[in-house]
Amino acid sequence: MNAKADILNALSIDVEEYFHARVFQEGIGGAVAGLESRVEMSTDRVLALLAAGGAKATFFVLGQVAAAHPGLVRRIAEQHHEIACHGDGHELVSRQTPDEFRTDVRRAKTVLEDVTGKPVIGYRAPNFSIGRAQAWAYDILLSEGFRYDSSTYPILHDSYGDHTASRFPVEVWRHADQKLVEFPIGTTRLCGVNLPIGGGGYFRLLPLAWTLAGIKRVNVHERRPMLFYFHPWELDPHQPRPPMPWRHRVRHYVGMEREERKLAGLLRDVKFTTIRDILAI
Ligand SMILES: [Zn+2]
Repeated sequence: MNAKADILNALSIDVEEYFHARVFQEGIGGAVAGLESRVEMSTDRVLALLAAGGAKATFFVLGQVAAAHPGLVRRIAEQHHEIACHGDGHELVSRQTPDEFRTDVRRAKTVLEDVTGKPVIGYRAPNFSIGRAQAWAYDILLSEGFRYDSSTYPILHDSYGDHTASRFPVEVWRHADQKLVEFPIGTTRLCGVNLPIGGGGYFRLLPLAWTLAGIKRVNVHERRPMLFYFHPWELDPHQPRPPMPWRHRVRHYVGMEREERKLAGLLRDVKFTTIRDILAI
């Protein structure tokens, strides 16, 4: 029996290579030269998974990936998913000057729009690196033609997350009649604490039932949609495993063998569409 609730949620995928992941890069000291590209193979698996589950999603594509694999971006767009921007070189916003940030997002947006022939209106910062100290980035995003940002995970976390941020879409910047909306990654609230139900390493680590129960709480009790995210490399347990400290290895590779099966289970029980659809922009 199809037990999907009637409420639609937003699904997002950050399209990057396994070696763009921050934990992987730190684990190998940034020595990514010569590592094989696996993004086409892993993203094609994601597309097959979404087609089987009848889900639409927003794909935040890295500009450098789009430049090297334009055919992949076209395949995603042809299947009526939304193409959005994950920046160009996967540099943290918190490590860029405003000028460097503008150059990075402009380059990536231009590549993506050239490949698809459609405007790109959504942005997600690498590693959710827009916090309170980077609020200047909103002004740049709006002036570069973006309409929404999705760079907040409102939880306590050692390298990202602002547990005081809004848990649902909220206007964060405005210029005349143009506004920028922030759509945070999904959380559920229990005993005054925001708990992660929106994907990433938590989804790989925790049982599927945890995520399903959390999404149900948000959909049924709060009557709101939530936003889930993952990366194609999380479905690729056969990616290269260069030597790295154990704590990096555990964090990067945990639960990868089960990821595809868990995602299929998630798509069976939860109805997903693009961020653009949910925000109706
Ligand atoms: Zn990323």
